[in-house]
Amino acid sequence: MKKIAILGSTGSIGTQTLEIVREQGDIQVTALAAGGNISLLEKQIREFRPGLVSVWEEKKAKDLRENIRDLDIKVLWGMDGLIAVATEKNAEILVTAIVGMVGIRPAIEAIKAKKAIALANKETLVTAGHVIMPLAKEYRVPILPVDSEHSAIFQCLQGQKGNPIKKILLTASGGPFRGKKRKDLQNIQVEDALKHPNWEMGKKITIDSSTLVNKGLEVMEAKWLFGVALDQIQVVVHPQSVIHSAVEYEDGSVIAQLGTRDMRLPIQYALYYPLRRPLSGEKLDLFALGSLTFEAPDMETFSGLSLAYDAMRRGGNIPTVFNAANERAVAMFLDRKISYPAITEIIGESMESIGFVKEPDVEQILETESATYEFIESRW
Ligand code: NDP
Repeated sequence: MKKIAILGSTGSIGTQTLEIVREQGDIQVTALAAGGNISLLEKQIREFRPGLVSVWEEKKAKDLRENIRDLDIKVLWGMDGLIAVATEKNAEILVTAIVGMVGIRPAIEAIKAKKAIALANKETLVTAGHVIMPLAKEYRVPILPVDSEHSAIFQCLQGQKGNPIKKILLTASGGPFRGKKRKDLQNIQVEDALKHPNWEMGKKITIDSSTLVNKGLEVMEAKWLFGVALDQIQVVVHPQSVIHSAVEYEDGSVIAQLGTRDMRLPIQYALYYPLRRPLSGEKLDLFALGSLTFEAPDMETFSGLSLAYDAMRRGGNIPTVFNAANERAVAMFLDRKISYPAITEIIGESMESIGFVKEPDVEQILETESATYEFIESRW
């Protein structure tokens, strides 16, 4: 029986991971961590019976303890709780499906505890890829991508030992505003931006997909995961989201991974790698699809993507500034405090204003995050 722990079990990726656990029937959940949704967490506890759970705030931990007093389950809170879940002694795989940079420390501790990492939390690699990847190598821990594009690339690399990657073709749906120009984005409302054409996801990543900031974060994630240079990663807008990404080899051969738009597939592949298990749900029907289309991204309108390339080129703590500024700006947009175009303006101005640190350690990454938040608060 496989044993897993999950950070962010109440979120979009977390709940789909538990659907796989339910469907496959041979995975034991040893520990769960959530933010504040203790009613869903309680349901998950009663169904999956982990020995340890954690939430973010002490008060919620107290409430949860009270609600499940009929069960013998340890309830922790805060960063210590997250790290305890990430390093739970029986788990072999940690699914890190938490949102934000709060995922960095637990991921580091899990690697040191020799847990395989099924990684959805892209912020971990975006901001601390230079710490995480060498550490995973040192501890011989696999980082198994959960993001659908990175899972696709990972799948395209199987059986290719010794064949260098010429180019990664990272596909993007283009989001709900594909084809629009800058002036059309002025009056975009929260409801418009939350309507993703192809995927059902958490709110933050849905907004990020609409600005193409998510694609920028994925470019950075791909660079770290697959050890390629930035100019070897090409973003290809493919509105049908059928090709989840592809790899070009030296001989010009392009190997792609195709599938339905179902996040359970990459999650399940990470959990059972290298095995492929049956998975319920619709399968790809090429006749029904008829045609697939491709176009270049409009980096001028969707400047989030060009800012991401710029952040990665500059390196050091600038990807952290990019990510932190975006996190804060998206939260402000969701609270209706700023306009839609202000999201990328805030990212750009933050990248010009925060001091550069060449090889930031985790402490400096978190300091950069705070400095970026302070800058935004003082300015907007
Ligand atoms: P959601 O917003 O749906 O879920 C986030 C999860 O993180 C929730 O369980 C939330 O708990 C938990 N959480 C938030 N803050 C804390 C905290 N301080 N301590 C503990 N738990 C916390 O996000 P998604 O599932 O959409 O995304 C998760 C990650 O996966 C992100 O990094 C995203 O970029 C990435 N990803 C997501 C994809 C998707 O299809 N959704 C695809 C590819 C990558 P609670 O709700 O209880 O507060």
